[in-house]
Amino acid sequence: MQRTYKFRLYPTKEEQENIHFVLECCRLLYNRLLAERIAAYKQSGRSLTYYEQKATLPERKLYIPALKNVHSQVLQNVVERLDKAYQAFFRRVKNAEKAGYPRFKPESQYNSFTYPQSGFSIEGKQLLLSKIGDVRIRLHRQPQGRIKTCTIIVKNDNYYACFSCEVESQRLPVSEKQIGIDLGVSQLAVTSDGDRIESPKFLRKSEDKLKRKQRAVSKKKHGSNRRRKAVRELAKLHEKVANQRRDYAHKESRKLVNEYGLIAFEDLNIQRMVKNHRLAKSIVDAGWSGLVQFVTYKAESAGRQVVQVNPYNTSQQCSNCGEIVKKSLAVRVHQCSCGYVADRDENAAINILKLALQNVS
Ligand SMILES: [Zn+2]
Repeated sequence: MQRTYKFRLYPTKEEQENIHFVLECCRLLYNRLLAERIAAYKQSGRSLTYYEQKATLPERKLYIPALKNVHSQVLQNVVERLDKAYQAFFRRVKNAEKAGYPRFKPESQYNSFTYPQSGFSIEGKQLLLSKIGDVRIRLHRQPQGRIKTCTIIVKNDNYYACFSCEVESQRLPVSEKQIGIDLGVSQLAVTSDGDRIESPKFLRKSEDKLKRKQRAVSKKKHGSNRRRKAVRELAKLHEKVANQRRDYAHKESRKLVNEYGLIAFEDLNIQRMVKNHRLAKSIVDAGWSGLVQFVTYKAESAGRQVVQVNPYNTSQQCSNCGEIVKKSLAVRVHQCSCGYVADRDENAAINILKLALQNVS
């Protein structure tokens, strides 16, 4: 399975110049190779192959010394790009589609180059690029699997690295286990097995800090320097909390997907309207969406099932007999006349699982 990761790069002035230099060398080479293909066809009626053109690279370096400042595999990739453009062209001709002939590239249309195998490595917060430099990279998550290629892209004056990775198919052995999950306010979630997924301490700490900072900003005078400074700090903290939350949601969602064949949630869109939570809504919300979102896509690649159900009455209904047992938010225990007693959220989680199973069968 192939997977692509894209990260923002922050090259220095000098590294930017190097990147643009390589881009321009690649573009000129591309156009030159295209011109030679066209000329060869006109002269002898035959197309040059990828290998024929690749074999010319060492000689080109002799009379165009600038090419020595470009990693050799990056140059080979230019030959490959042109070859792919031709293959696509021939395919279109064969399928009698509208066949645009490969074109010369103006500067505006040549915005990337590729290290197809080597010449790059990630080390800490830097991407080491041969002939470019050690470029600062923002790795918001670790690429999974074996990195095959690295493509540098320049877009709207921003710089990016795209890694194409070979990942093992994540299909897991079949699991008969099923679970319902009630998304909570005082804890992230409670499961139909009675387990609690708590927000970890570090995250709660950061979230408290976030609330305090938010208040601090609102107290400062508009347009003042102190307010600007506080806003900057708040933005930084927001990012930190978002990262912590995401990492945590990744970890918890992985555990759920590994263990259960079917995972049932409340439908968040409906749930937002039904549940009345007084706590900092956006903060709780953010934790939930991450969890549901990550479980959903991990489940997909693992061959697991995720079902979202209408949460209406899931906390009021008795999961044992179906009776409606009215209770306010403050009542944390579900106690039914049928004799069934359970934690309020656990009862809800069991109802969620039941609803999901009705939907499935
Ligand atoms: Zn009951």
